[in-house]
Amino acid sequence: MYMEKRFFLETFGCQMNVVDSERIVDLLQGIGYRQVVQPGDADLILLNTCAVRDKAERKVYGHLGRYKPLKDENPALILGVGGCVAQQEGEKLLEKLSYLDLVFGTHNVHKLPEMVQAVESNRVRCHETEFLDQETRLQLFPVRTAGDSVTRFVTVMQGCDNFCSYCVVPHVRGREISRPSAEVLHEVRELAAVGVREITLIGQNVNSYGCKGEGEISFARLLAEIDATAGIERIRFTTSHPKDLSDELIDCFGSLKKLCNHIHLPVQSGSDRILQMMNRGYSRDQYLEKVRRLQTVCPDIRLTSDIIVGFPGETEEDFEATLSLMSQVRYADVFSFIYSPRPGTAAAELPDSLAPAARQARFDRLLALQEEIARDWRDADLGQVLDVLVEGESRQGNGQVFGRTRWNRIVNFDGDRSLAGQIVPVRITRVFRNSHLGERLDH
Ligand code: SAM
Ligand code: SF4
Repeated sequence: MYMEKRFFLETFGCQMNVVDSERIVDLLQGIGYRQVVQPGDADLILLNTCAVRDKAERKVYGHLGRYKPLKDENPALILGVGGCVAQQEGEKLLEKLSYLDLVFGTHNVHKLPEMVQAVESNRVRCHETEFLDQETRLQLFPVRTAGDSVTRFVTVMQGCDNFCSYCVVPHVRGREISRPSAEVLHEVRELAAVGVREITLIGQNVNSYGCKGEGEISFARLLAEIDATAGIERIRFTTSHPKDLSDELIDCFGSLKKLCNHIHLPVQSGSDRILQMMNRGYSRDQYLEKVRRLQTVCPDIRLTSDIIVGFPGETEEDFEATLSLMSQVRYADVFSFIYSPRPGTAAAELPDSLAPAARQARFDRLLALQEEIARDWRDADLGQVLDVLVEGESRQGNGQVFGRTRWNRIVNFDGDRSLAGQIVPVRITRVFRNSHLGERLDH
């Protein structure tokens, strides 16, 4: 009798992993697997992992430990690890975890079907974590032009050459490459044709798109081409490195109608001394000057940021410089992280005498300040009528739909799923920490 095979996939980390996981789903469906939502129902369990902080990495080991009893019960179960921890650890993961069957790195997602089939038929344990050459990587860029969502990520570049001193990404994702613009634009047009209305262009540092000669046009030019694409209503991009945020790109916020008035522009620290030790390539003043220019071309732009607390050697004065920068910029949201030493990075070699409790205390102060600022932004939305691009039914399943404002805030309001893909005016009636509640105006 034909037995359908089932897989369970768990994804950790950033948008790059989300896109890789979409590809994993396609590849596994191609060899007869169906996705399930319970690990206990699966014949194959895969974890797509993140190594950016120690906590993220430990989480992976924690989850794998939880799947081990399933493997004890059912020795035919295949257990695999992909993504950044797989890339970092490689074969060592198989040595550490006797119950693991396969390990695939960030450049080897395309090999997954043959690896799974090798484990199925020969019960061999395998690993593939070689970095590929540029030409092969360009041929293997993830492309997905089907599906039924209103918003989609489109990868424009991969890898990173910046080597910020704290960051593992260049070590586990490899060198930076940009995808040819013709391919990006083709994918965007195909997505528009199947109903996608919002495109988020993604890469570790999208601002350096095309800088190395690939991609042929600047990132600003690419945005202008997408702006002219029929069917696409909104454009976003992430992540922007401040040092590569050109005037040409800043001007796009004034000239391109579909580009949303929000930018995620990670500052990491407000202290020049720490920024230099982080190898970020800009000073506090240079960062603030770019913020001023953004606000000049697009007065209602909102900014969000990433900030690291407790970088090795961070003094109270350095930390206060970060707080003062936050008060000056007034970010709508900040993703803040306690510094975590990563293997192979330059910062991991720096002397570090800051006690964990001191780091935590600074982190708490930063969170409290940001919460005050964010509350003001949320309150400013109250009573306003904002355009919401509807994405689908709310997760609560209570007759509501959800969508996002141009500032990227989630709004829930009464409505049915036929609104998906439409931009509707919604009056904001209540504001919460992570989302707004509203009522639709035009019916
Ligand atoms: N490429 C993006 C950029 O340059 O902003 C994001 C890269 S990383 C996946 C996301 C965020 O994680 C970074 O912006 C940084 O704030 C944080 N991060 C990276 N390495 C870290 C570390 N070792 N400890 C704490 N936070 C870290
Ligand atoms: Fe990491 Fe810096 Fe590259 Fe971002 S730009 S991925 S923080 S090395």
